[in-house]
Amino acid sequence: MVRIGIVGLTGCSGCQCEILNCEEALSKILQRAELAFFPLAKDDHTVPELDLALVEGSVSTELDEEKVKEVRKKSKVVVAVGSCACYGGVQAQRNDEASLKEMLETVYGGEKLFLKVFKPRPVSEVVRVDYELPGCPLDKRQFIYTVASLLNGVKPFFPKIPVCHE
Ligand code: SF4
Repeated sequence: MVRIGIVGLTGCSGCQCEILNCEEALSKILQRAELAFFPLAKDDHTVPELDLALVEGSVSTELDEEKVKEVRKKSKVVVAVGSCACYGGVQAQRNDEASLKEMLETVYGGEKLFLKVFKPRPVSEVVRVDYELPGCPLDKRQFIYTVASLLNGVKPFFPKIPVCHE
């Protein structure tokens, strides 16, 4: 059985919910694969060895960085899902004129934070990523196509389509 993990970093969890919304396709996928790690939906805490890891969210905290490095180490294929994971997302588009320190003070006042916070980065800036499925949230058809291809031992192919035509 192929072991799949769905991992959330900093994001709104919308991409993970979109994966859950794939209902019929997901039940077919799960005839061939085991959902070995999915903390949003199951009581999972430790990242196991995985064949395929789907990573949502940007790398925005020390914890995100540790988690994504562990996932990369334990996974044969890593797919970044959604625009947060592929590009950093809305949280990466902050105004660079304000320092991160100033922003944290504005939002959280003098509260002591328990997490070390970084400027949000795409997953590929921290670990090697095999495929990227952008979109906010990710496109369900692209997700199903990618996972089905990988389950069948085929490399998914994403043609580059020009946005503008002459
Ligand atoms: Fe949420 Fe959009 Fe980020 Fe997905 S890409 S986690 S839907 S903000």
